[in-house]
Amino acid sequence: MDGTKIESAAGRYTFVWKGSVEKNKAKLENKIQSVLSDIESQIKQDQSELGRDETPKPIKSNELRDRLSLLNEKLKATAKPTQKQLKKLREEHLPRLEKYEKQLATLGERNSYSKTDEDATFMRLKDDHMQNGQLKPAYNTQISTEEQFITHYSIHQTSTDTTTLEDHLDSFEDQYNRQSDVVVADAGYGSEENYEMLESKNIEGYVKYNYFHKEQKRNQRNNPFLLQNLYYHKEQDFYVCPMGQKMEFAGKGIRKSTNGYSSRVSYYRAERCEGCPLRGQCHKAQGNRIIEVNHRLNELKTRARERLTSETGKYHRSKRPIEVEAVFGQMKSNNRFNRLTMRGLEKVDIEFALMCIGHNLRKWSKKLLKTTSSGPNNEPKYNNPLIYDPKWINYCYQPLVAE
Ligand code: SF4
Repeated sequence: MDGTKIESAAGRYTFVWKGSVEKNKAKLENKIQSVLSDIESQIKQDQSELGRDETPKPIKSNELRDRLSLLNEKLKATAKPTQKQLKKLREEHLPRLEKYEKQLATLGERNSYSKTDEDATFMRLKDDHMQNGQLKPAYNTQISTEEQFITHYSIHQTSTDTTTLEDHLDSFEDQYNRQSDVVVADAGYGSEENYEMLESKNIEGYVKYNYFHKEQKRNQRNNPFLLQNLYYHKEQDFYVCPMGQKMEFAGKGIRKSTNGYSSRVSYYRAERCEGCPLRGQCHKAQGNRIIEVNHRLNELKTRARERLTSETGKYHRSKRPIEVEAVFGQMKSNNRFNRLTMRGLEKVDIEFALMCIGHNLRKWSKKLLKTTSSGPNNEPKYNNPLIYDPKWINYCYQPLVAE
């Protein structure tokens, strides 16, 4: 399986960013709070003044007349700005607050969306000739293939592939009522949570992780300062730094992924880096070197590495670029399917499904028409005896020619 981002039909400059919505909402809330407290304190002040008048004590008619005229004056003076503030709150601040609340509800877990296709998320698309990333509204489409036939697809609103694997496999299971035995995917999917998920579903995963290729290189394997090359004593739980000093356990921590998955990490600290002749090559931090280790991820990576470097792993790795990547090449480059024409998740789902069906039919008809050798009188001999009838061949081939 693999994923690609396809540009949405939405306008390119119609973005709504979560960060700016949250910032503007916080500013507005501060403003509203200060206006509200102004009005409330004004009312309190007025009430307390009125309250003083209500205390039972003897009062003369002329005295009352004077007090009333004074209060009226005061109320007139205070009521005008209060009314103005209330009007501003009602007509300006309240609609803006409602707008921000609606935008945040539309955003959900996403960081952005497009005003002209609210389901589209802004993603970095490497579609210019220099392969520079450009932020455009898009959908993250994931496909599974077998012999270059698309066996399953799913549409996602997040830009990273790490978060899409489980949903994709679950929807595959819903559709076929069974799960894949083997999954082959690139380093974009290699995370602790995905490795754990594949093991829990009994799927044989050939999924690379970051630095899989890098760590195979000699200069990486022989660099004694890299974390993965430090000696670890499992029983006594300590590392040994390149200078031969013990790096003792210094505490534990939790790291949360964008999916909310919690990973446990451990910290180890060197004892005395000051004056160490290797310090310049070892680390740039102030004080002693501290390393962060995820032991569970290391275990899972070791198992993944064993699978990936086995003969079967090498076979799957060599096949992946001519399997799923070739399908994306056919769809996006040969058929120029680089931008969707429909808007909204539901319609985009249908459009992409039609593209997948079209791809499979094209692939299937080409496979049927594939010749193995020439027949008698130099007629082509077809793999599939069902289409040996030339009429059927013409019928099958015409739409492709027309296309
Ligand atoms: S700088 Fe610190 S951690 Fe690095 S080799 Fe020297 S003593 Fe060890």
